[in-house]
Amino acid sequence: MKLLELLPIGNVDGRLLMELGPAIREAFHMPCEVIPRPLDPEFAFYGERQQYHSSELLERMQYFLSRGSWRILGVTSVDLYIPILTFVFGEAQMGGPCAIVSAHRLSQSFYGLPPDAELEGHRLLKEAVHEIGHTLNLTHCDDYRCVMAPSHAVEWIDLKESTLCPACYGQLFVSGD
Ligand SMILES: [Zn+2]
Ligand SMILES: [Zn+2]
Repeated sequence: MKLLELLPIGNVDGRLLMELGPAIREAFHMPCEVIPRPLDPEFAFYGERQQYHSSELLERMQYFLSRGSWRILGVTSVDLYIPILTFVFGEAQMGGPCAIVSAHRLSQSFYGLPPDAELEGHRLLKEAVHEIGHTLNLTHCDDYRCVMAPSHAVEWIDLKESTLCPACYGQLFVSGD
């Protein structure tokens, strides 16, 4: 039985990881485990942007793959970017096996609002399911409620569900993975 593995990248709130595991397991019907050895993200830090290069982290995550890995989801609290965008909530390798999500811009405090741990947990789950969806060859969906809808702001994340719409769900079985 293959595992969906969660890889903490840098210091990650243990509560976020603990809640994410069971929720993801439910979404993909795959057993889920946290990799005990975190990845230090400092090599991917760019001082001029004060952010971490998401694609470089994804590349490094390949070294954590083992025979038992189904997918590896990196979870981090640092702010991620790719050169063409000011930031990303996450990034995935289309078709797998690795994806990464950041909680940095999912917290209410980032926007100067009072903290809301439950909301932050929901947002992280949606982004996690979204990025894992990409590793399963799913592309962006036009249905704004579908978890595969693109999100460029937290308001968009809040509009969507943490589940795949029927069309996207059906795609999973076309891709044969
Ligand atoms: Zn996407
Ligand atoms: Zn969809």
